[in-house]
This record gives sequence, C-alpha cells and structure tokens, in this order.
Amino acid sequence: MSKTLHSLRGMHDALPDQTPAWLALEASLAATARAYGYQQIRMPIVEHTALFKRGIGEVTDIVEKEMYTFEDRNGDSLTLRPEGTASCVRACLEHGLIHNQQRKLWYLGPMFRHERPQKGRYRQFHQFGVEAFGVTGAELDVELMLMAARLWRALGITEVSLQINTLGSAEARAAHRSVLIEYLQSHADRLDDEARSRLTTNPLRILDSKNPEVQAVIAQAPALADFLSEEDRANFAEVQALLTAAGVPFSVNPRLVRGLDYYNRTVFEWVTTALGAQGTICAGGRYDGLVAQLGGKPTPAAGFAMGLERLIELMAAATEAHAEASAPEITADVIVLWPEPAHKPWALIAAEALRLALPEQRVQCVLDGGGLKNQLKRADRSGAQFAVQIDTETAGEPRWSLRALRPALPQPPELALPPAEAAQWLSQHLSPIHPK
Ligand code: ATP
Ligand code: MG
Repeated sequence: MSKTLHSLRGMHDALPDQTPAWLALEASLAATARAYGYQQIRMPIVEHTALFKRGIGEVTDIVEKEMYTFEDRNGDSLTLRPEGTASCVRACLEHGLIHNQQRKLWYLGPMFRHERPQKGRYRQFHQFGVEAFGVTGAELDVELMLMAARLWRALGITEVSLQINTLGSAEARAAHRSVLIEYLQSHADRLDDEARSRLTTNPLRILDSKNPEVQAVIAQAPALADFLSEEDRANFAEVQALLTAAGVPFSVNPRLVRGLDYYNRTVFEWVTTALGAQGTICAGGRYDGLVAQLGGKPTPAAGFAMGLERLIELMAAATEAHAEASAPEITADVIVLWPEPAHKPWALIAAEALRLALPEQRVQCVLDGGGLKNQLKRADRSGAQFAVQIDTETAGEPRWSLRALRPALPQPPELALPPAEAAQWLSQHLSPIHPK
C-alpha cells in the first residue's frame, strides 16, 4: 500500500476489538471524576502557539522539540495541543469560570507530541486530566492522589506505586537555583550537551536527566529540600500525614521535579514497573502560579494527567491473567429476518420499532437479505439471542414470529404475535446480562 494510505508514524487506529476496552476505561474515568465533584470541559484540539509557549514554558521538551506547529491560511501560528492544562486555564479565564470561586474540571482527549514512537510513547496519545482551582490546602493535593488510587482499584490495576515530592515556594527554588547552577558549573565537564545547554535556562530539569554520568553528578548536588521554608516543610509534612491517614502508601522521591516556575509545593507521579521504560501512568501536582502566568488573577490550582494508552496496556495485562477463551464478537441481541424480498420495508420498520421498545439491546436487521437459510447463518454469526421473523402480511400488516437462536434460551410462543406483544415478550426474556 502506498505510504499515504498508512496512518502516520506514532498515530494509531483503535480497532473494533479494542474499542470496548476504551469505552469501559472512559466510562470509569467519567464516573470517578463525577464522584469527586468534577465537571467535564471540552477544549479545542488546536490553539494559538503562544498559549502553549506561555502555559508550558519555552524551555521545556514539549515546546522546544515536540509540538506540531503550523501556519494556517491566515498566517497565524497554531499548534495541535500537546497537553490540556494550558487550554483548560485559557478556557476558564475566557469564560470567567474561576473568578472568585472554586472549580473542579476534567477533560479527556487526544494530545499530540512529535516524539520518538515506542511502546507506551506515541505522537497522538490520549490523556485524562483533572484541574482544580481556588483551593490552597494540602487536602486537595491528597484528594487528587486518592482519586487516582480509586481509579486503579476500579480498573483492576495493581502494580502501581505513588511517588511524591515538594518543590516548595518560588523563593526557595530561587535560592536553591543559584547554588545549584554554581555546583553544576563546577562539574560542567561531566555533564552532557543537553545538561550543559540547560545550565542557565532551566537547571532544575537537569535533575531529571536519564544519563548515568549526569546522574552521578546530580547525586551530590545541593538538595532543594535544604532550602525549603518552615511553611513549605509543614505543608509537605501535612501531605504525608494525610496520605498516611487515608492509608495510601507512598515514597518520597527528591528527584521528582518540574522545571517551571509556576509549579510549586506538591508534585506526584504514579509509576508502574509493568510497562518497561514508560512507567509513569499519572503525573500531577500544584501549579499556583500558572493562572497568573496566563494573565489571570493569582489563583491556587492543582491537577493531574494520565496517559490512557498506558492504562489500556495495564488493564490488558491485568485481565489477561484470568481471561476466558475469547468469545466471538457479539453485535446483536435481537435480529430481524425477512425471507421474502417484498417484506424489506417491514423489516426496516420492525427493527426501528424494536430499538424503540428495547433501548438497552442491540437490534439489527439482516442486510442484503438472501434466503432464510442464509439469513439464519448471519443471525447466528451476530451472536443474537432471538430473531423476529417478518412473514406473510395479513390485511396489510406484517406477521411477527419469534425464534430462539440458542439452545438454552426460553422458547417463544409458536404463534405469531402482534408487534407490541412480541416486543413485550422479548423485553421479558432477553438475558439482562450480556457482553456489550
Ligand atoms: P515523559 O517524561 O515520559 O516524557 P512527560 O513529563 O512528558 O512524560 P506529562 O506531560 O506529565 O508527561 O504527561 C502526563 C502523562 O501522559 C504521562 O505520565 C504519560 O502517562 C502520558 N504521556 C505523556 N507523553 C506521552 C506519549 N508521547 N505517549 C503516550 N503517553 C504519554
Ligand atoms: Mg515527555
């Protein structure tokens, strides 16, 4: 096939045998967000490039090298969103959603980053994100972590652990930063090019480096923890005490950083060892400085984002352990048969009537009919429990007779029924529990 008929590298279709897992995950995420009082918000997928430069930061991997940026026909610089927080804050400011009030929001959708694709890392991927505005207390930070923990339970994900850290206040980081730069400069010969280029622009990000040589330098670097104010320390102690009270195990990871000034205090990540290198499934924390950075009134805020592809992968790993032999795909609960070509209009109408009467069930009409034998074969393949067969009209009306399509099902009446009674009989005898 020619290259243009392939999906782009790092951008994938979700095929019919995968979409049930996606739907189940999305339903779980929406229900959990709702249970914590979050409201859904939907933002556009494309925004002005300047929003992400200001909202994510010029000296970040995302803005420096991962954005899908292009000029539209007016010559405006636009970008496919690489994450949701900046758009969410923009929407809140634009519509006055966080003016002197608390607000909890969630969103879910595709994000775009031009990275090197590998397992768990794609160019189009999906995030579920939550953002809460107007709350300063540590109880919010911990509630966010509890929400993620509840989700893992709902999704049957077990091999995850929580890492936390504090970034303190802007003053603490400024004091630490100058000492850190001095230290790193004195060891510049042992840093790689990337770390050297970040030395003055964003030295905190060097702490994040995956290069072992650089890590060895970092291990001896002055720790941010030594620069924290009394209040920052008390705040971090409270986060830990609340987590302990709530029974959530965690570990403190002093390397957990965000290299931008509007992040402060709590940062956290949920990580798993079950996915290989791409082990972070949820990253979050406080960003009390972002709303002001984007032109709003200073507003405390915290949130997290989860990568859904990694969750799907983990869910698959969790269910594979006790999966039954894969059941044939079921696409109908009731199927309408019409062995006489003349009954085609009746069959279409009958299927509509059944969909109305049985809103929870999957109703299909055999398409491209053929003879009865052929139609029964298709009915069998659809997985349907019962068929409604449309036969000879009496006085201009179709006759509806019912058939059970599987041996263990209750036997329908042998005589044809009026449509309303047939639908009634089906509503009472269709198995309420069937795979969706
Ligand atoms: P990394 O250091 O792995 O690149 P990040 O700091 O860029 O992560 P965030 O921007 O915090 O990641 O995004 C939150 C979550 O979104 C990540 O923890 C991960 O689960 C998911 N994620 C981020 N980038 C990708 C991607 N390219 N493909 C799939 N999932 C991703
Ligand atoms: Mg990244």
